[in-house]
Amino acid sequence: MATPRPILIVEDDAALRATLAEQICLEGDFTADEAESASEAVQKLASADAHYDAILLDIGLPDGDGRDLCAKLRRDGMRMPVIMLTGADGEQDVVRGLDAGANDYIAKPFRLNELLARVRAQLRVFDNSEDAVFTVGPYMFRPSARLLLEPARNRKVRLTDKESNILKFLYRAGGRPVPRQILLNEVWGYNSAVTTHTLETHIYRLRQKIEPDPSRARLLLTEGGGYKLDPVATSAV
Ligand code: CA
Repeated sequence: MATPRPILIVEDDAALRATLAEQICLEGDFTADEAESASEAVQKLASADAHYDAILLDIGLPDGDGRDLCAKLRRDGMRMPVIMLTGADGEQDVVRGLDAGANDYIAKPFRLNELLARVRAQLRVFDNSEDAVFTVGPYMFRPSARLLLEPARNRKVRLTDKESNILKFLYRAGGRPVPRQILLNEVWGYNSAVTTHTLETHIYRLRQKIEPDPSRARLLLTEGGGYKLDPVATSAV
């Protein structure tokens, strides 16, 4: 089961934006959110409950240049893949876009399959990169280092490989519960003889590490025959 990953589409052409949003969601790999201007994109990215795994970013926006927006996002520390949608495929467009911190670009008109292939490729690279940092409750989660940083308390939590993978997969589920068997398959592999008891043991240890009160979990919750992350519940702590 693939968990849909949220993509932000920043494009002022309403028809193109709507088509993209609709098509991107079709296969169930992605969900789409839309912004028609640079300012709306900034607003959406700044909202506390928003989270996007990748951004599709038009260059020519009514209130600015997509490349400037990309540069701003990078300055603000956002590292998710950004794919520029370029109107003119002149070299200047492309070079400036990549200079601004974009990961890739695609010239209009493009085929949706090609765009999706590029998004998937960039997400694969990103997920395995040193740069991948996810916010989980009060923590900055760096899967590549198997590390949780809690800036407010200047604290580091070291995770095992399995704990890190569990957290990564729950994070990707975007707050939805993941059934135990699916989590087990994803983290230990489909052919493993490991039982859900092993998973429960790992969840127990993970809670000891990340929950202020492990007996009353507020971050890693049990729900619907599985587990889910609730970053919102802990962000107020
Ligand atoms: Ca445009």
